[in-house]
Amino acid sequence: MNAALKSPQLDSTLDADKLAQLARLTSGLSPADLYWIAAYSAALAARLPAYAGLAVVGEPSAVPAGQAGERLSIVYGSQTGNSRRVAEQLAGNAEAAGLLVRLLRAGAYPLRELAQEHHLVVVISSQGDGDPPDDAIGFIEFISGKRAPRLPQLKFAVLGLGDSSYPKFCAVSRELDARLIELGASRFSTLGEADVDFDSTAAEWSAGVLETAREVLSVPAASARHASPLHAVSAPPQHSRDNPFPAAVLENQRIVSRNSDRDVRHIELSLEGSGLRYEPGDAVGVWPQNPPALVEQWLSTLKLDGANEVEHDGRRLPLARWLSHERELTRLTRSLVVAQATATGHGDLQRVLEPGQQAAFARLLESHQPIDLLREFPTSWDAAQLIAALRPLTPRLYSIASSARVVGHDEVHLTVGVVEYAAHGSVHYGAASAFLAATGDDTRVPVFVEKNERFRLPADSSRDVIMIGPGTGIAPFRAFVQERQATATSGRNWLFFGNRHFAQDFLYQVEWQEALRSGALHRLDLAFSRDSAQKIYVQQRIREHGRELYAWLREGAHLYVCGDSAHMAKDVHEALLEIITVHGRQSAADAKAWLAELLQQGRYARDVY
Ligand code: NAP
Repeated sequence: MNAALKSPQLDSTLDADKLAQLARLTSGLSPADLYWIAAYSAALAARLPAYAGLAVVGEPSAVPAGQAGERLSIVYGSQTGNSRRVAEQLAGNAEAAGLLVRLLRAGAYPLRELAQEHHLVVVISSQGDGDPPDDAIGFIEFISGKRAPRLPQLKFAVLGLGDSSYPKFCAVSRELDARLIELGASRFSTLGEADVDFDSTAAEWSAGVLETAREVLSVPAASARHASPLHAVSAPPQHSRDNPFPAAVLENQRIVSRNSDRDVRHIELSLEGSGLRYEPGDAVGVWPQNPPALVEQWLSTLKLDGANEVEHDGRRLPLARWLSHERELTRLTRSLVVAQATATGHGDLQRVLEPGQQAAFARLLESHQPIDLLREFPTSWDAAQLIAALRPLTPRLYSIASSARVVGHDEVHLTVGVVEYAAHGSVHYGAASAFLAATGDDTRVPVFVEKNERFRLPADSSRDVIMIGPGTGIAPFRAFVQERQATATSGRNWLFFGNRHFAQDFLYQVEWQEALRSGALHRLDLAFSRDSAQKIYVQQRIREHGRELYAWLREGAHLYVCGDSAHMAKDVHEALLEIITVHGRQSAADAKAWLAELLQQGRYARDVY
C-alpha cells in the first residue's frame, strides 16, 4: 500500500473500501503520475454539480473577465436531474470541441456577472404549473425582475424541458427566451422544447447549439483553457438511466392496513453487483413495464393482434412488446389528442385543442388516460402508426427511503403509492407503481440512481432538521432519520407526517415510535385528514407549533418538504410564510424574502412533483 495512504495524519472522507481501492490504483506510480492524478481529480471535482456551483459562488469567475467573450456559460435549472444531464452532456461535448466552458447550476450562477456574459446557454425544466425548479427560482426572478441589466452583448440559446401533458408546457423556457430578447440579447440558436422523452430532441438541439457556438466562439489557445481532461472522464458510470441495473426484489410489503382505501408498498431492491451508490435525498429511477391487463385493454379496444411484428425506428418487435415495454400508455399527451382528433374528426376533441380552450384541455388531460380517449372516440389505428404516435415510456423517480449506512449499498428501499382506480367504466393503473406492486422473487426491476444534490442533510451535523412529508412524501425522511441516527448527529430531528387515517395509513408507524423512544426522532407531529369531520393537514400542525418552528429556523434548522407539488407544497409554503410573519414579526414582503433566501441557500429544500 502507498505510504501516504497509510499515514494516520491523512484525514479522509473516504471509507476503508475506497481507500483500499485508491491504494491499489496508485501503487507503483511515479511522483509525476501522482501529481497528474491530483490535478485530474481536482478538475473532476470542479465539474461535479455539487462542487461546480460552490466553486463559483462568491469567488472570482473561473475565467478572467477579459475572456468572458470567449467563454460559453452553460446554466441548468433541474428538478429531477434531466436538465442537468443534458447540460452536462453539452458541456462535455463543447469542451471536447476545444471551447472554453463553464457549467453551473442556476442557483449557483453569479447574477452580477450576467451583464458581462457574452455566450449563455440555459437548459431549464418547467414544473407542473409552469414553475421553475426550486434551484432556478432566484435566477429566473432576477432576469424577469426590474433589476435585470440590459444585455445587448449577450448571445444566448434556451432549451426547455417539460411535459406536454401539462397545459403550461415549457412555460419557464418560453418566458425566459422572450425576456432575454426584451433585455436586448440575441439568440444564437432557436428556442428548443423537449417533452418527457427528451433525449432525441435535446441531442439534436445541443448539436445545433454546439455547431453555432463553434462558429461564434474562437477556440482559445491551449494555455488559456482549463488544464483539464474533463471530456475524457465524462464516460457514464456502468449503470445509468440508459443502462439500468436489473435489481432483484428483496421485499414487497403492503404497509397500510387491510381496510385502507389506498395501497402503499415498502419495496426493497438488491443493488448487489451494480456498483451503484446513493445518499439520503437521492432517488431511484425505475424503468416500468405497463400492466399486462392494460396492454390487453388496448389490443382488444383497437382490435389489433399483439403477436404481429411492428417496425419502428429501425427496430422490429411484437406489438404487445412495444405496448408493454416501450410506449407510454398511462399518460395522455397533447400529441395523442391531436392524432386522435385528426383521425376521428370528432368535434369535441377538435374544440378542446382550439386556442382559448386551455382549461378544457387541462381537464381532459387530468381526467382521461389514453385508453379512455380510444374508447370514447373510436377509430381504427394501424399498428405502426400507433407506435409512432405514442410517446416512448420514460422512467419514474422514487425518493429513496433508506440510508446506505444502515442497510448497506447493496440494498435500497422505496415507498410506493400504488395508483389504481376505477374511471370511465374500467380500472386505471399507474405504470411504475402497478409494475412494482406486482413484482415477486423472479422479477428484475431496471433501476438507476438519480442524484439530488439539492436535497441533502446539513453538512454541519449539529444543525436541527425539520421534515414535512405527508403520504409517500415520508420516504426520504426515513432515509434522513436512519442516516442521522447512524452518524450520531447532535442536531435534533422534527417530523411532520400526514395521511388519511391514523389506524390505516400511518406509514412506518412502528419505526417512528421506536425512533422517538430511542431519541433518533425528537418530535413527531401528525395530521390525519379523514379521521375528523374537518380535514386536518400538516400545515395546520405547522401553524399550531409555529412559535417553536420559527425558533428552530432562527437557530439555523434546515427545512425539508417532500410530496405533492400541486397543492401540499404550496399550502405548506403559505403556512411557513404566515408563521414567519406572526412569530418573526416580519412584514409579508420580508417573510417572503427570508424564505426565498433560505431556499437559495439550500436551507429550505423541496423534493416535490
Ligand atoms: P397524498 O394524496 O398526497 O395524501 C397524503 C395526505 O395529504 C392526505 O392526508 C391528504 O388528505 C393530504 N393532503 C391533501 N391535500 C393536501 C394539501 N393541500 N396540503 C396538505 N396535505 C394535503 O398522498 P400519496 O397518495 O401518498 O401521494 C403523495 C404525493 O407525493 C404524490 O403526488 C406523489 O407523487 C408525491 N411524492 C413526491 C415525491 C417527490 O417528489 N420526491 C416523493 C414521494 C411522493 P386528503 O386526501 O384527505 O385530502
